[in-house]
Order: sequence, then C-alpha cells, then structure tokens
Amino acid sequence: MVIHEYQAKGLFKDEGIPTPAGYAAETPEEAKCAAEKLGGKVAVKAQVHAGGRGKAGGIKLAATPEDAEKAAEKILGMSIKGITVKKLWIEEALDIESEYYLGITLDRSNACHVLMASKKGGVDIEQVASDDPSAILKYPVHRHLGILNFQVQDLIYGLELSPVQSKGFTDIVLRLWKLYRDTDCTLAEINPLVWTKGGQWTAGDAKMNFDDSAIYRQPGIEKLIEIVEEDPLERVARREKLAYVHLGGDIGIIGNGAGLVMTTLDVVQKAGGRPANFLDIGGGANAQVVSNAVKLVLSDPEVRGLLINIFGGITRCDEVAKGIAENVRDVRIPVVIRLSGTRENEGRCIIAETSLIPASGMQEAAEKIVSLVKEGGS
Ligand code: GDP
Ligand code: MN
Repeated sequence: MVIHEYQAKGLFKDEGIPTPAGYAAETPEEAKCAAEKLGGKVAVKAQVHAGGRGKAGGIKLAATPEDAEKAAEKILGMSIKGITVKKLWIEEALDIESEYYLGITLDRSNACHVLMASKKGGVDIEQVASDDPSAILKYPVHRHLGILNFQVQDLIYGLELSPVQSKGFTDIVLRLWKLYRDTDCTLAEINPLVWTKGGQWTAGDAKMNFDDSAIYRQPGIEKLIEIVEEDPLERVARREKLAYVHLGGDIGIIGNGAGLVMTTLDVVQKAGGRPANFLDIGGGANAQVVSNAVKLVLSDPEVRGLLINIFGGITRCDEVAKGIAENVRDVRIPVVIRLSGTRENEGRCIIAETSLIPASGMQEAAEKIVSLVKEGGS
C-alpha cells in the first residue's frame, strides 16, 4: 500500500521531521491560491504513485502565483508512467545546497530492516545504486533494538556531515525510524533529503509504503489510502480482502492461486481475449468468498464474460461450485467454468444444474469464453 508525497509529508510533519510548507491542489486556481499563501517561489509537484516525476516533467518551479497556475495547467492531466495526474502538491521552493538520500526499508533476505543513506541523493539514486553501490551506506536495523547510536555516528562520518549538520540529521534518522516502525512501513524514504543554503535540513520528497497485512491495525493509514485509491473496484476488493487487480478488459477472471490466475490471464490473452482483472480467491476459499469474488467481478461494467478456473487442492470444487451457482442465477453474460481436483465430480453435478458452461481444461475454457464474448459483442 502506498500513499502520496503530500500525505507522507503530513506524517513527517506530525513526527517532527522538517518538511517544506505546502498545500494540495486539484485545479490551476487552487494551485495559484496555494502559491499566494506560500508567497515567493514554489515547486508545483504531480502527485502520482511513480518515481522519476522530475524527469518526466511532473515537477515545475514557479516564480509567481500566475506561473504556478500555468505550471498546474500543464501538469494536471499529464500522464506519468501511465498514471494521469489529478492532484498537485504546491510547496515552497527550496534553496538547495546539497541533496542526500535517506531511507529505511525491509530487507527480506536478512529478515531485518535496513537503514540506507547516501551523499549522492536526488533523481539519479537508482543509477548510483547500480554504478557505485559503495556510495550507498547500509546498516541492518533490529525491530526492537532500533537504530543504534554507533550506527548513526558511523553514518555521519560516512556522509562527511559537518557538526552543524549532524545534530539535525541524527534527529531526522531517529524520527524516521520511529514513524516507520509505528506505522508498519515497508519503506520510508526521503530523496532528496535537502541541506539548504540557509543551513537547514528538509525533506524534499517523501515516499512511504505500508505492509498490507498490518493495515488492519493502522486505521489512520487506511484512511489515507482510501483517498488515493482511485479505482472503485479495487477499493471494494480491499475491504473484502480479495486479491484483485483491475486490468480494464472485458473478460472477468477468477481462479485460486496467484500462479494459476496469472497463467489464466496469459492463456486468455493468447486466445485473443482481454482479461478484465486478476482475482485470486486463494487456497481453501469457501462459498462465501467465492460469492463475494463473483459479485465483485460482475460489478465491473466492462465485463462481458466470466472465466472461472479452479484447481482443487485445499480448495474444494463443490464449495466453489456452490458459491458460484448461487451468484450466477440471474447473470446474463456467459460464464465458463473449469473445475479440476478435489471433489470435482460433486462440483460438476452442481454446475450441471445451472447455466454455467463447463470446460475440461484451461485452454478449452479460454477459447470458449473468448469466442462467446466475441459473439455477444458482434
Ligand atoms: P521525483 O523525481 O519523483 O523523485 O521527485 P522529487 O520530489 O524528488 O524531485 C526531483 C528533483 O527536483 C529533486 O531531486 C530536486 O533536485 C528537484 N526539486 C524538487 N523540489 C524542489 C524545490 O522545491 N526546489 C528546487 N530547487 N528543486 C526541487
Ligand atoms: Mn524523489
């Protein structure tokens, strides 16, 4: 789960991490108004879940409120890595002396957290990481012990910070760690962490990702995600705890197991169809979960056919069949189902009494649904 820069900066501010003053805006007029309130030069920044906004033209500096309005006109509606910009963050422009990188993330292979920092921060940090990995300092962090004093000292030495810079820096590192831990982050990153010409630290950018599995105990974060999650179907899916991704085609896909669902997407695509979604109901799904899944996929107005691909292992085919049969009674679009594995015969008996179209294999199922949707559309 991710949030926008402006929201992460809000959390930074509450935690006492210095951030530039700013306002969110959704129209050029709001951007102008924000620039007036800030006074002086501002940065107009696209709020999208993608890095490299600066290079993509999603960040512009503006000297006057009128310039900010014009910059906002240009950036709103722009597409950055396939995402349309709908929101801006207008903040006071920074007088940058130097740009550092500071981040904490989960290190899955070592089963700990890792603190990372570099004096080569800014837009090319990925390049630095691949060309000159030694320029990024890394320290393992124990969840309960936290960041230790000697690590911060070592970091200050490695970054060659001056005594004036050191105090504020230590404070930021410790506060970032506290925020990271308290909100169940998987990533909290400041890039660039700016040292201004005026001799102050401030977070030039802010990026935070959160552990999906811990969101239940982070109501404050969940509210922030609600705001940024633009796809209404994905919002419903998250509430119902369904692993769903909206893809935009017209053939709904439901299966059990991420690998099986991904394969199904490929097979449908190869058969000439356009999958509407990814939906994995997982192992051991019961009739209720199946019913929720079917309802969700059918609530997508683009969907003109549904393919259900179940391989029964822990999941019982008859349970799935029950959930589906109850939900497709009044459905007018074609639904093709492939059931294989545990209790498949019982499952097939339930299906035989419905309007569902059985298929014996994945390939056959894909071909059937693709041709039925094409017929329906012509
Ligand atoms: P990203 O490209 O998505 O990572 O967006 P950032 O917020 O990190 O901005 C990219 C770059 O734009 C930064 O590294 C800065 O060099 C520059 N930048 C961002 N905000 C300001 C600002 O307020 N003033 C100035 N002078 N430069 C900025
Ligand atoms: Mn950045």
